Amino acid sequence: MSKLPNVGTTIFTVMSKLAVEHNAINLSQGFPNFPVDSKLTDILQRISTDSIHQYAPMAGYPPLLVKIGAMTEKCYGRSPNPDQEILVTAGATQAIFTIIQALVNSGEEVVILDPSYDCYEPPVILSGAKSVRVPLNDDFTPNWERIGHSINSKTKLLIINNPHNPSGRVFNETDFVALEAIMDKFPNLILLSDEVYEYITFEKKHLSINTREKIINRSVIVSSFGKTFHITGWKIGYIIAPENLMIEIKKVHQFLVFCVNSVSQVALSEYLDKIDVTQLGSFYQEKRDLFQNLMKTSRFDFLPSEGSYFQVASYAKISKESDVEFTKRLVTEFGVATIPISVFNANQQDQQLIRFCFAKDSETLTQAAIRLCKI
Ligand code: PMP
Ligand code: GLN
Repeated sequence: MSKLPNVGTTIFTVMSKLAVEHNAINLSQGFPNFPVDSKLTDILQRISTDSIHQYAPMAGYPPLLVKIGAMTEKCYGRSPNPDQEILVTAGATQAIFTIIQALVNSGEEVVILDPSYDCYEPPVILSGAKSVRVPLNDDFTPNWERIGHSINSKTKLLIINNPHNPSGRVFNETDFVALEAIMDKFPNLILLSDEVYEYITFEKKHLSINTREKIINRSVIVSSFGKTFHITGWKIGYIIAPENLMIEIKKVHQFLVFCVNSVSQVALSEYLDKIDVTQLGSFYQEKRDLFQNLMKTSRFDFLPSEGSYFQVASYAKISKESDVEFTKRLVTEFGVATIPISVFNANQQDQQLIRFCFAKDSETLTQAAIRLCKI
C-alpha cells in the first residue's frame, strides 16, 4: 500500500513540463530566468580547483555557519550560536522534511495554513501524524481565531509561511501578537516558520520570527539561499533553531544527507561578505511593478503582492472554468504557464485564482503580458 496515496507529481513539475511541450512562457514554477551575480560565479570558478571537494562537516562548513549567524545579527539583531543553533541544509525542502521527521511523533497533529506550499503535508503523513489544514482568510491573511480553535493538546507543530507562497502576503505586527498569544496558551506547541522569501518584501518590511523574543525558544526558522541569491538549482538553505530542538533535527539530518554539497558552501561563505541582502526587495519590487503595469489593460484582477516573487490574479472576468482547467488552456492555447491556486488547498477549493511568477527578465515579462492582455 502506498504511504502517500493522495500524492501525485507536483504542480510545478506538471506545469513546467507543459510549458516546454507547448513552447510557452513559463511563469509557473518559481525560479529566476536571469543570470546569477557574476561575483558568485567568479568565486565558484576560482575555488573549483581548491581542495574543497570532500565531505563538509555534518552541520555545515564552519565559516558559512559563522556568516549566517552574522547576517542574522545584521538583519534582525539576533546572534544564533553557529555551532549549536544553525544547520546548513539541501534547500528548504530538506530542512522542512528533516524538522518534521525529527520533532513530530505518530498520533500528534500539525497545523498547516491553506493555501499551503506542497512540501509541508507529506512529511507529516510519513511521521504517522495528522495534518490539520486551516484555511487562511479569503484575502490570504491568517485567521487567528480559526487557527487557535484548531490547536489542542495533541498539536505538536504550527507551520507558518511568511512571506507567503502562493499569495505573496506578509504578516503584520498584529499577526505576531496573535501568534504569541496562541503560543502562550499552548506551552508545548512548536513553531516552524518558513521564511524562504524573507529578503523579498516590498512596501512592508519583513518581520522575522528571529525578532520575537517571546517565542524564539520554541521556533524553528527555515531559509533558502536558492531564493535569496537566484540559485534555486543549488538546493541550499539553512535552519535556525534553539539547541534542544536542533539536537533532534541534526539526528535526522545526519542520516538523510549527512552533509550538504561542499563546493556551494565554500562559495557562499565567501559570497556572503560581498553582498547586501537588503537590496533584494527593491530588485524584485521593480519586477512586480513592471509586470503589474504591463498587465494594466488585461482582464485579470490582481490581488496584493507584498512579498515573495509571486502575483496572484483572479480570472473571474474571463472564464468560469476551474483554475486547473483554465491554467491548462492558458498554456496550450495562449502560451503562458501559470499555477492554479486550488492545488494548495486541502479540499482543492477553487476561487478562480492563479499565480504568476515574476522572477523573470523584462523581455519575458513583456512577452507574457502581450499574450495575457489578448485574453
Ligand atoms: N518553502 C516555500 C514557501 C517555497 O516557495 C519553496 C520553494 N521553492 C521552498 C520552501 C523550498 O525551497 P528550496 O528550493 O530551498 O528547497
Ligand atoms: N517553490 C517553487 C514554487 O513555488 C517550486 C519549487 C519546486 O518545483 N519544488 O514555484
